[in-house]
Amino acid sequence: MEKPAYWSINKIFVNNKTQNRMMIVFRTPPCQKIIQGERCFICGFDCHCKNIRGYNIASQFRFLKKIIEQNKIERVDILSSGSLLDEKQIDYKQVLKLMEEIKKLKDVRSVLIEGRAEYCNLDKLKRIKEVLNKNTELEYGIGLESYSSYVRNAILKKDLSTKDYMQCIKKLAEIDVAACTYILAGIPGLPLKDSLKETISSIFKVINFYKKHGYKGRIALFPIFIAPGTQLEDLYNQGKYNLITLGSIIDILSEIKNKVDFKKHPIFIGLDDENISRGRHILSRDKDEKILKLIQKFNCTQEI
Ligand code: SF4
Repeated sequence: MEKPAYWSINKIFVNNKTQNRMMIVFRTPPCQKIIQGERCFICGFDCHCKNIRGYNIASQFRFLKKIIEQNKIERVDILSSGSLLDEKQIDYKQVLKLMEEIKKLKDVRSVLIEGRAEYCNLDKLKRIKEVLNKNTELEYGIGLESYSSYVRNAILKKDLSTKDYMQCIKKLAEIDVAACTYILAGIPGLPLKDSLKETISSIFKVINFYKKHGYKGRIALFPIFIAPGTQLEDLYNQGKYNLITLGSIIDILSEIKNKVDFKKHPIFIGLDDENISRGRHILSRDKDEKILKLIQKFNCTQEI
């Protein structure tokens, strides 16, 4: 049976409760940016797209079915080395078949699909909602990375305007699909102090944007790791980039804790490198077990 590229299980606070979550990276063809040779500065997702001829994401999901049932997974995050709704990358009929498979699992009550702003297509999302069980929450995960367009586009080469991001969130609200905005910590090319400031400012700006318009939304904060073959790896090998530490993540949380209502707009700290950093990620560098436990507890409870 076909296997996904990667999966992991952890706990997450979402929809006002702690849920068992499985994150799955499906093996699919690469995204348009990678095909055009313009990949984002830190992205190493193409390692999951090597030698792909045929692929079947519903069958990859069936491979995990037993594990999902045994672990009573309530929440599934679907990643694809690109955008799930980009038809040039992934056959949309396969996406609908995948949703039919998810629908059969009685414990799964919420689903996140990941994609860029330009692939946030309302008709496709509406159809997905129709296929899933009525009471299953759908969320769209979008990599904003930073609210600063200088950081996002000049440094991280994301090629995404703030306007397109905002329009995407607005569209999601029209059909009652929640948003999850990804923000990065450990921005390359900036002194640590400025990099932390950018991340903190991005968190406030995204939450204020959600609040101002009454949008349903949360944030996933990801410490940057070093994926092979990226421009970031060159900087790292030249000693010009240092990984962010768990202590800096705690500094970020301490700075925002009295100003953000985490229960309304939860923040998930992603500590997983999806096995693509060759050990060059936050946990391999900073082994402070006490801080790690605090962050894991925060992911489940949103309490600091
Ligand atoms: S981050 Fe996403 S859009 Fe950018 S190159 Fe990687 S898979 Fe493609």
